[in-house]
Amino acid sequence: MPGKTNGSPLPVNGRSIRIPQKAFEQVRLQGRVAMCNASRWQPIKEALQNRDAAMTRNEGACLCGAIRYATLAMPNRVTVCHCRFCQKATGSAYMVEPIFDADTFVVLAGSPKTFDQVSAGSGKLVHVHFCPDCGTKLWLSFERFPNVVGVYAGTFDEPCWFPIDPATSKHIFLGAARSDTVVPAGLPTFFEHATTNDGAAQEATVFETCHQIR
Ligand SMILES: [Zn+2]
Ligand SMILES: [Zn+2]
Repeated sequence: MPGKTNGSPLPVNGRSIRIPQKAFEQVRLQGRVAMCNASRWQPIKEALQNRDAAMTRNEGACLCGAIRYATLAMPNRVTVCHCRFCQKATGSAYMVEPIFDADTFVVLAGSPKTFDQVSAGSGKLVHVHFCPDCGTKLWLSFERFPNVVGVYAGTFDEPCWFPIDPATSKHIFLGAARSDTVVPAGLPTFFEHATTNDGAAQEATVFETCHQIR
């Protein structure tokens, strides 16, 4: 966010950031935008860059607030997983898991503990990072995929900030899904994993209307 500024706000994700007043005055005094040179646009350019950064920087925390993190980019993809591991690890019906490049994930405060679970499918370790004080699980990292982090979406301060759309998202392990779970129409779904352990792609099922698990 820009520092000491008091100019006009730009809306960002429901919040606002401020363009330096001086930059607007420079533009106004100039009269014509075409007369503004690059240096006069610099504050606005920086503010817009900050706005873009603000749109992709999102923070989250555990229940007690001791552990805070930030993601600095859009997720590469979003997996909604209904497997038994995710049911146990969330204590709920499924996990909404946006996947980020590990270098765009930052721990801001606190020291999570880690529980290591051997993946039933791959035999590799899945690391569950949780708060030792309040027990909230915040993110996963993977022996098999060391360059990515999967976040427990419910821990974001604004959990709906990223879309779940057909181009980047899928529901997996419908074969283990809790009965009465409703799967949305139009999204790729898979009975188990989307790919086998040797990397072969599985065929997706896309429901034309909302699908209720029986
Ligand atoms: Zn906590
Ligand atoms: Zn799962």
